[in-house]
Amino acid sequence: MKICYLPGDGIGPEIMAQALRVLDVFKKEGLNIELEEALLGGAAVDATGVPYPEATQKAARAADAVLLAAVGGPKWDVLPRPQRPERGLLGIRKDLNLFANLRPAVLYPELANASSLKPEIVAGLDIMIVRELTGDIYFGEPRGISEEGGKRVGRNTMIYNEDEIRRIAHVAFKAAQKRSKKLCSVDKMNVLETTQLWRDVVIEVSKEYPDVELSHMLVDNCAMQLVRAPKQFDVVVTGNMFGDILSDEASMLTGSIGMLPSASLDENNKGMYEPCHGSAPDIAGKNLANPLAMILSVAMMMRYTFANEAAATRIETAVKKVLAAGLRTGDIYEEGTQRVSCSE
Ligand code: ATP
Ligand code: MG
Repeated sequence: MKICYLPGDGIGPEIMAQALRVLDVFKKEGLNIELEEALLGGAAVDATGVPYPEATQKAARAADAVLLAAVGGPKWDVLPRPQRPERGLLGIRKDLNLFANLRPAVLYPELANASSLKPEIVAGLDIMIVRELTGDIYFGEPRGISEEGGKRVGRNTMIYNEDEIRRIAHVAFKAAQKRSKKLCSVDKMNVLETTQLWRDVVIEVSKEYPDVELSHMLVDNCAMQLVRAPKQFDVVVTGNMFGDILSDEASMLTGSIGMLPSASLDENNKGMYEPCHGSAPDIAGKNLANPLAMILSVAMMMRYTFANEAAATRIETAVKKVLAAGLRTGDIYEEGTQRVSCSE
């Protein structure tokens, strides 16, 4: 297992250190883990002047998986756009062709009070959003603001070809097979041609997965259903823009941003794994951050890139044990539990 790890900025190095401790346990038990550290984001800008330096490109391309903590912070927000940490993130996603973004939203029973919804609505919540990450209206051409007939006109193009839809559909069906074999595809086919094609192609692909029950939902209804009755969903697959919005909505159902991991995969299950949260500059360097999203990202890496379900389950079980024991970092602390630091 060749793993390139990127501690990044803010709380990044603190939470990455905890992920490395987890990997060290597996290493001591005999798993063949090779680690290489590289720079991304603000840390890379400070050292080399660019957010995604050549040395990092080399290391990331050579690895089977990339572990990323978080990038960005106010210190770099004054720089010209090409030098901002966020450009490093977009750069590595594009460079590694990470077109499939998997974001689980799980409600841990010990944290039921953290959700903004009533416990009976979210108890047992366990959703996986599969978002297409490299196409759609975010990248389509033509785009831009121009002057037409004496008026300014803003334009973006929503576009998918059938190959792009097919490959993300396969990822989603395979994810559904590993879970409860239910897949909901989200589109807006009643008004958008792109998503009519989306629906047609998803239906074609479904013929190869007769064991998975496929349903379709319009995005506006899905946004509503996620709040009304989120437990009806298991795996949800959708395009880049709808996925951006729905995955943020789903993550907030759990009320614990410090607990949510994510995976971004290419065609061969090479992936980049990172917490859903950002670099949290307000608590950086204080040993206060919740390392569980980072540690659960290691579990996703074991599951999706290395097909090591045993290791993934062990990490997830360990996280549940820590919560059951009442240990909490500040972000999920409540009365009657025990406050611990990031490294503890
Ligand atoms: P980005 O733009 O990179 O997504 P953001 O502006 O959305 O970042 P975050 O960095 O995710 O913001 O932080 C949002 C809030 O959540 C902050 O108050 C931060 O301290 C808190 N937070 C984020 N991650 C953690 C964590 N792992 N542990 C504890 N608190 C966290
Ligand atoms: Mg954010």
